[in-house]
Amino acid sequence: MSGSEPTDAGGGSGLAALLDRSVYGETLDCVHCGLCLTSCPTYRATGRETASPRGRIYLMRGLAEGRLADSQVLEEEAFLCLGCRACETACPSGVRYGEMLEHTRDAIRGGQFGEAGSSVSPAGLAIRIERFALRRIVPKPGRLAAMVSLLSLVQKLRLDRLAAKILPSRLAGMVRLLPVIPPAQARRRLPAFTPAEGERRGRVALFEGCIMPEFFGRVNDAARLVLARAGYDVIVPETQGCCGALQAHSGDLGFARELARNNAEVFGGGKLDAIIVTSAGCSASMREAESWIGDAGSEMAGGVRDVLEFLDEVDAPLSFSPIAKRLCYDDPCHLIHAQGIAAGPRRLFAKIPQLELVPHANPEACCGAAGIYNLTQPEMSKRVLSPKVEALVAAGPEIVSTANPGCAMQLSAGLAEAGFEVPVVHPIELLEEASRPR
Ligand code: SF4
Ligand code: SF4
Repeated sequence: MSGSEPTDAGGGSGLAALLDRSVYGETLDCVHCGLCLTSCPTYRATGRETASPRGRIYLMRGLAEGRLADSQVLEEEAFLCLGCRACETACPSGVRYGEMLEHTRDAIRGGQFGEAGSSVSPAGLAIRIERFALRRIVPKPGRLAAMVSLLSLVQKLRLDRLAAKILPSRLAGMVRLLPVIPPAQARRRLPAFTPAEGERRGRVALFEGCIMPEFFGRVNDAARLVLARAGYDVIVPETQGCCGALQAHSGDLGFARELARNNAEVFGGGKLDAIIVTSAGCSASMREAESWIGDAGSEMAGGVRDVLEFLDEVDAPLSFSPIAKRLCYDDPCHLIHAQGIAAGPRRLFAKIPQLELVPHANPEACCGAAGIYNLTQPEMSKRVLSPKVEALVAAGPEIVSTANPGCAMQLSAGLAEAGFEVPVVHPIELLEEASRPR
């Protein structure tokens, strides 16, 4: 499917043909055992079989085989899915649900986007706006920076508070999710080269991402400093770009592939110990580049490491000062379920003297952020967030930590709404603070 032109797959038969080609074979891996059901947040919230992994796979298969004629239920349930991939962790048959979901959404959106071209329905308009933002703003650093500067001005003038009061609830919810936008000097791109400190152990590239430099530049900068202190030269290639995860999750796989091809060229071919990523959503998608772009993505995919995974793997020779705080660590779905990384971050926390890791219920459960899910499905997102906030409040930490920007925004907003305002930080920020030369 082309990344630049919408397809016209609309209607049950067009969708059936696309599903037949893209996911049918993989749907056969599901043996309908149901062991994934209780791990699925949308099944737990609704109790509906069609809102479970097994039910969604059944719908994909039924449409591909032509046994189901009406595609509407799958169209709704595919986008109600959080893409959290907790079902993959639970599945004993190795079903690659995340990949099936991306292909299914791509097939659905291809048809809906084609239909939206000839209609001005609210749904069609929403699809067009989402696609415009994800193609024309998010991956374009200049445009994204201009938009974030505008939002910063809105926050400075306190118009966001007014907007949150007077806008319809859905739009008001979007406004509340926005973090405080950092000052302009904190939104600059990182230096192209940072030399290793002390004994040189190697050379890594740092992936900045699209949203991260604008909202969480401090996280990327913390990664750069810790990696240099650990003995690694850090390069930050200027021509790198958006990873394509948000586009793929929204059903625009063709465009996501274009973005992945660019990064595969930028990060391939160099003598690097690793390509370091600070956002779990980005590292998960870059790691799976081969499934998007074949062999062209294999070198990049093989080199990608989440920053916490890398520091844990190489047993970085860092010395840490104490941080006497109680901390809850919440596992991002795209770190624990998509990449199987859970113990590494906890081992790193254990190295910081006096930092007390406080347990909370279900740290591996989704927080409801899921890329832009909290914007597109605000009601379900809140239902999924609610037990997470309750668990964190009950644990009573002084700091909450998570390793994905969307989760950090979601948890901050949820905790603030519950009147429990504690800092929500990336683990690398704590590692940077504790390893700072005194
Ligand atoms: S990805 Fe998450 S929400 Fe979607 S079916 Fe799997 S467990 Fe359920
Ligand atoms: S656990 Fe795996 S095989 Fe069993 S129903 Fe869920 S997806 Fe299918």
